[in-house]
Amino acid sequence: MKSTIRKSTYQAIYRLLDRVSPIESDCGKLCGAACCTCGGDSDDDDFKLGIYLLPGEEKLFTQQENWLKWSEELAEDFDFPDSWFGKIYFIRCKTPPLCPRKHRPLQCRFFPLAPHLKKGRLHLILSTVPLPYSCPLIEQEIVLSHSFIQATYTVWTHLIEDPLIYDLVRMDSEDREADGVPIKILR
Ligand code: SF4
Ligand code: SF4
Repeated sequence: MKSTIRKSTYQAIYRLLDRVSPIESDCGKLCGAACCTCGGDSDDDDFKLGIYLLPGEEKLFTQQENWLKWSEELAEDFDFPDSWFGKIYFIRCKTPPLCPRKHRPLQCRFFPLAPHLKKGRLHLILSTVPLPYSCPLIEQEIVLSHSFIQATYTVWTHLIEDPLIYDLVRMDSEDREADGVPIKILR
């Protein structure tokens, strides 16, 4: 899929998010890194539990990384916006929770925050995606670091300038509103 976000922009986004984390300490110690280890090392090729890359994010990878298993899929086969068609990339980690931290994808960096559009305005909420594990940051509503929220918000303001990513955020937001999913707005 054609992304309007340049490789250098994605690199800058990675650098910005390298400097922040959801809480001061390693939240993986609260849960045994549940979001990394919930099947990522399984031989099962159910890529629904894999991590999808945002359009163009694959430019930051060689696809030869020995810590990743790659899958190319068609966007139209998954629950993505109608404007998404053609190749998308899913990855699964071979050695979770260990990975080269500087290279972890955006989905890992944002969690447990998610973008939400309400009346045309961008917000950050706690992720509402049904999970096969429990995230203490969500369940216990642990206060997230201001720098993490601020950096993630800044990144999303840039990401939604891309029409495809905007469509994704809008679709997810409309789905939440239509389904009456309770949301907790953090920004
Ligand atoms: S984001 Fe949640 S599930 Fe993932 S390591 Fe931190 S506390 Fe655990
Ligand atoms: S890339 Fe790293 S942070 Fe993300 S799921 Fe894999 S092991 Fe966890």
